[in-house]
Amino acid sequence: MDLKGLRHDVLCYYIRSYEEHLMSGTSGNASAFDPESGRMVITPSGVDCRKMSEEDLVVTDLQGNVLDGTHKPSSEWRLHAEIYRAFPEARAVLHTHSCYATAFSVVGKEIPEILIEMTVFTDGAVPVSPFAPAGSEQVAKNTAATLRGRHSCLMQNHGVAAFGSSMEEAYVRAVYVEDAAKICSFAMAVGTPRTIAEASSSGCASL
Ligand code: 13P
Ligand code: ZN
Repeated sequence: MDLKGLRHDVLCYYIRSYEEHLMSGTSGNASAFDPESGRMVITPSGVDCRKMSEEDLVVTDLQGNVLDGTHKPSSEWRLHAEIYRAFPEARAVLHTHSCYATAFSVVGKEIPEILIEMTVFTDGAVPVSPFAPAGSEQVAKNTAATLRGRHSCLMQNHGVAAFGSSMEEAYVRAVYVEDAAKICSFAMAVGTPRTIAEASSSGCASL
């Protein structure tokens, strides 16, 4: 996909993430990567998505040099760049502050594998990466290390990181992280959630 296509996808899924309540205010950010040119298209820092157009997006290299755009790139550009460096198959990254998932991150609790769809969409239980300040090289490194062997994780006292082979894939993964955290929160309010492994070992044998 050319940079124009990437711009379209980044803006479309960033707005959609906001509308789906995956972030509030100007929190969170999205990017897409073109491996041929080594360029990423990333949301600008601190701009309200409802006022954002494709021209407001910023094109940078993985060292953070701005190649096109009038805004500052997202303060989390290091996180996005580190994920593209660590996972050659990554083409899009979405970072959200979705409410229920971030609540798990605040207490440093992984989201257990309690739903059948988690096997497919969240690679099982969703772990928490160690805390580091927002926008730092360390938060980028901690998150990429936690993402090894998976496509989404929580970031301690911060939010969610998800990546995929397309913006849509990264978005769907971030949606399922939030969905699992929400259902788990309700389940904890009414009882003790059972993991898929616990349910399957105590349930009926297949017919
Ligand atoms: P930006 O507006 O700079 O992308 O920051 C939002 C955020 O989520 C920081 O972690
Ligand atoms: Zn953030």
